[in-house]
Amino acid sequence: MTKTSLVRTVVVCLLYWCVFQIPQVAAQTDGSGAWYSDSRPIMGTNIRTEIWAESPTLGLAAVEAVMTEMERINQLMSPYIQSSELSKINRLAAHSNVEISPELFDLLQLSIGLSSETQGAFDITYASVGYLYNYREKQRPDEQTIHQLLEAINYRHVVLNEEDKTIKFKHPKVKIDLGGIAKGHAVDNALAILTDMGIEHALVTAGGDTGLLGDRRGRPWKVGIRDPRHRDKQAVVIPLENIAMSTSGDYERYFEEDGKRFHHIISPQSGESSYEVQSVTIIGPKSTLNDGLSTAVFVLGVQKGIDLINQTRGYEAIILDNQRRLHYSKSFEAVNAEN
Ligand code: AMP
Ligand code: MG
Repeated sequence: MTKTSLVRTVVVCLLYWCVFQIPQVAAQTDGSGAWYSDSRPIMGTNIRTEIWAESPTLGLAAVEAVMTEMERINQLMSPYIQSSELSKINRLAAHSNVEISPELFDLLQLSIGLSSETQGAFDITYASVGYLYNYREKQRPDEQTIHQLLEAINYRHVVLNEEDKTIKFKHPKVKIDLGGIAKGHAVDNALAILTDMGIEHALVTAGGDTGLLGDRRGRPWKVGIRDPRHRDKQAVVIPLENIAMSTSGDYERYFEEDGKRFHHIISPQSGESSYEVQSVTIIGPKSTLNDGLSTAVFVLGVQKGIDLINQTRGYEAIILDNQRRLHYSKSFEAVNAEN
């Protein structure tokens, strides 16, 4: 699929602002192979995969490999698992250099790079305040606590040493969290594992982050953007192949108090939820970057967010603002004007 035809198809879908359901996976077979699918709760979200394989042995092994990779990343990067590398960093890095795995080091380096490219909108140290929100228990920090901890939110407090692969915090109150990028990383890893196994057609979804290998055998995959205010509706369904797409929304984790929604995407400037938009979708080749960018653009808001994506080659954005108006990046807009 050429970029123009991809963009054209996407825009047509956007224009209809359609309300479709994603088709359910059926265990189909045409004699040359079959679809294998599964979904499991891992990383605090729903992991779903659909894989075309030529034999049941390969299909079942491939599904298992995806789930195993998700669980591995969870054990490595979850802030809720005491033995995770991330928890260890949060316990120790304010006091000493902490040696970490090359994989985590690379993801941290990418995250810090993304912070400087997004004027600090994406910032894993948001967690210095963010860890005090508990959306299930409807808990949030009071204004005074936010004020006291706000100076700990700054990616420049994180010092990474390339040579010995260590991390150190320059401020005693810093905490980090990779919730804005780890799922995208897990999806990219899972797709790489599937490719190594010889799989050519697959979908892997971790919450709002989806990666696709090939097409759905003769037709595109259909990936939905949820309507932020209607749990069971898709606001837009986009036909895609061999690409990835991430959506960040204010509906994933939140609670309401006096009519105000306290949700999980935090502005590093204020230590509070970001309110300019309801959802941001990024489409591009790397799920890790889609994931980080969708969180960043959510914080940046419509204008700065679209400007950033227009300067990011190979990546496109669809933003639903807090008035439920759609905005999209330049290539989408250009095709829209043509139609
Ligand atoms: P996403 O799941 O990609 O929509 O990103 C939201 C998640 O990213 C949240 O649940 C937090 O774990 C994390 N997060 C929240 N605010 C930020 C921020 N400003 N920068 C980086 N990560 C964030
Ligand atoms: Mg994200």
